[in-house]
Amino acid sequence: MKGLIFDIKEFALHDGGGIRDTVFFKGCPLRCVWCHNPEGLSRERELYIRKARCTNCGLCRTPCNHPDCAPFGRCLHICPQNLISVAGQEWECDALAEHLLRHKAIFDETGGGVTLSGGEPLLQADFCEALLLRLSGKVHVAIETSGYASEEHFWKVISKCDLVMMDLKLASPTAHKEFTGVNNDPILQNAKRLQKSGKEHLFRIPRIPSITDTEENLRALAEIAGESPVELLSYNTMAAAKYPNVGREFSRRIGKTGFEGDPTKFFQNAVCRK
Ligand code: SF4
Ligand code: SF4
Repeated sequence: MKGLIFDIKEFALHDGGGIRDTVFFKGCPLRCVWCHNPEGLSRERELYIRKARCTNCGLCRTPCNHPDCAPFGRCLHICPQNLISVAGQEWECDALAEHLLRHKAIFDETGGGVTLSGGEPLLQADFCEALLLRLSGKVHVAIETSGYASEEHFWKVISKCDLVMMDLKLASPTAHKEFTGVNNDPILQNAKRLQKSGKEHLFRIPRIPSITDTEENLRALAEIAGESPVELLSYNTMAAAKYPNVGREFSRRIGKTGFEGDPTKFFQNAVCRK
């Protein structure tokens, strides 16, 4: 079985405790206007060209029949500045598990492990399940997910993870649809399932100025989170620079200011994180 992965970040420090390898799954059903991984949105392999340094010399547009290049209509190997790559690499499940288990000793020593991230890993639920069957019991496995999935896909993956880090973005169904492109009902249902399950979990709230980071939304998300632990994440302003590299345009709808007080006061169990 093969999965499509757009990055593997080795020795990550902020994705679930200890030193971890984070696997970024390609494809996401959401289109959050603040997404900082535009190369993870499409479910297909795609060209990634670092446009800021491109001199537009045209060399990569010369016809090339190399099997790596033909599907993209560009030569991937000729750029004098090495600005062209492909976002998305197919991995066999056994090979990926073996690759990740190379660092088991470091994970064990630091209380770390493997984190499944994206994009949205649950979009490749069968592959995730197969990978987890190869990893569980050997290394600690965490998942970062939007929670947007059917109950079946959610549960088949979540049940095999040691820690679930799930986003809560917008409580209003209308605002959720407007700023992420999807209805939040499946997410709220899966959040309840997660809370009832007793599985170790954490809700993460991205603080997007004028969108998620408003008093009204924070209060409403605090109701949903209840006693569950919550991390409030600062907005990463570097996101916009990557959009042209995959031919996308960054939304200009994000405001300059958000909630100015201490947002943790609305929650029973929350911390802020940069
Ligand atoms: S070869 Fe490199 S510098 Fe020239 S157009 Fe292509 S990406 Fe730009
Ligand atoms: S859920 Fe995450 S990966 Fe998907 S669009 Fe939103 S921010 Fe990006």
